[in-house]
Amino acid sequence: MDRLEGRHTPLRRSLLVVGVYLLAGWLWIAFSDYLAAQWFPDPDALSRVQTYKGILFVVVTALVLFLVLMRQLSRDRIMLSLHHHQREEIRQLNQLRESLIERANVWINVLDPEGRIVLWNKAAEEISGYRREEVLDSDQIWQWLYPDADERERHRARAEEILPDEGELIGYETCITTRDGRERRISWNARGLRDEGGEIVGTIAIGQDITDLREAEITIRQRERQLSTLMDNLPGMAYRCRYDEHWTMLFVSSGCRELTGYQSEELVNNNRVSYAGLIADNSNEDVLRAVESAIGNAEPFSIEYPIVRKDGRHIWVWERGVAVGSNDDLVLEGIILDISDRKALEEELSELATRDSLTGLFNRREMTRLLDEEIARAKRYGRALALLWIDFDHFKAINDDCGHAAGDSVLKATSALLADNVRSVDVIGRFGGEEFVILLPEMDRFEASETAERLRALISDTPQPLGDGRTVPLTISIGVSVFPDNGTDSRDLCAAADSAMYQAKSSGRNRVVLAPPAQEAHNP
Ligand code: GH3
Ligand code: MG
Ligand code: MG
Repeated sequence: MDRLEGRHTPLRRSLLVVGVYLLAGWLWIAFSDYLAAQWFPDPDALSRVQTYKGILFVVVTALVLFLVLMRQLSRDRIMLSLHHHQREEIRQLNQLRESLIERANVWINVLDPEGRIVLWNKAAEEISGYRREEVLDSDQIWQWLYPDADERERHRARAEEILPDEGELIGYETCITTRDGRERRISWNARGLRDEGGEIVGTIAIGQDITDLREAEITIRQRERQLSTLMDNLPGMAYRCRYDEHWTMLFVSSGCRELTGYQSEELVNNNRVSYAGLIADNSNEDVLRAVESAIGNAEPFSIEYPIVRKDGRHIWVWERGVAVGSNDDLVLEGIILDISDRKALEEELSELATRDSLTGLFNRREMTRLLDEEIARAKRYGRALALLWIDFDHFKAINDDCGHAAGDSVLKATSALLADNVRSVDVIGRFGGEEFVILLPEMDRFEASETAERLRALISDTPQPLGDGRTVPLTISIGVSVFPDNGTDSRDLCAAADSAMYQAKSSGRNRVVLAPPAQEAHNP
């Protein structure tokens, strides 16, 4: 409608102007002639006036024509320069569009409605290997890219589908064969193109080479599968957890069930229980300290602690992990193994290493270590410590008279009686043969000699079982030494107690002898 109007306006306007001009001219001639005839009756004067009037008419119309032409021409000039400017802009825009299409790192091609290539950008050349000159204005490319006829037809049909109803193809994947025979996987976005008049002029297709992406995905999936197989078959539980007070588990392997008794989902995100809640015997602090210090030193950590399983059973675990990520988002990754069997074995071995097998009391080595510990403590806190050295009297005779087994029975019964009659802080051990040592922390000479005397009396008043229902009377001799009077290390304290015990023997047995203080020993 606008265009129609535009086409007729100049004609109409020209007719209007001419009409106005004719009317004005006719009016001027008719009116001025009438007035001139009225005002100038003289024919000569009238003739002159007519001439002037004609000149005036020509001058006025020339002036009007000049002004109209001037205005029109300057308008035309402005329009022309505007037009020129717009053409330049359109040219630049076209150039920009072409260079964008050309330089785009995605494959861009345009097909006409018959499937012939009308645009083929550089990326299309690079990915497919086919140059523009080879593919333009031909539909041969379909055969080259898709040598398999069925596949080709399928893709062509799909591309044609989108033409009539301005449809779109998004993420349509095809596998093309390049010029050098390689296969590349392309993801296409395509849509129909229409001109201004709404005519279908072709299809634009934008393709992205996703071969590497797909291969990477396949590799990642394979790795994930391998990793999950590995995780599922790991002894123990692999985990990833937050570095927070709950040790919030973000991931646990399926070994979680066997280790903790909980399903993975119950532990992850503290859904039912936090991992910190499983750590037993107040070991949380120790675990935290060990992890903190490892993170501080940028090292992996390796810790052992007890946990309580869902069924209430305590087990020992060994955990090795490492912190990963930045400070704000630190997570720990590692593995946790059940080491209860190893712990039990260790405990058994440690029992064997520290206990005497016949009496169950500490052995000589452990007693010496404990004595050193007690002496260190006594020194640190300025406290007293006493040591009793006990030897059975004429024990050989029991062996000789009743047999070695009966002797063993007496050894067991007597050591149990001694152990039952000391305080819980006291430490009793078998030093060898029928020699026993008792450590009495925080006891001075007086208290120690009282205890020794009580024990001596107890044994001498209690006949010891031979194991066959019979009993035998037994007495013991005890030497007593105290820290620091008789020495400040285990060697001196033992020597003093031992020699006091020998004194007890030599002065008749079944008695207690206190080691004399050091000065007395040196200056009797
Ligand atoms: P004394 O009053 O002088 O100490 O006399 P004694 O016979 O006890 O002499 P001594 O302490 O030298 O002898 C210790 C004996 O203890 C020697 C050994 O036959 C016996 N004996 C040492 N260890 C064991 C043991 O494990 N089992 C048994 N049945 N006897 C042992
Ligand atoms: Mg002895
Ligand atoms: Mg003896």
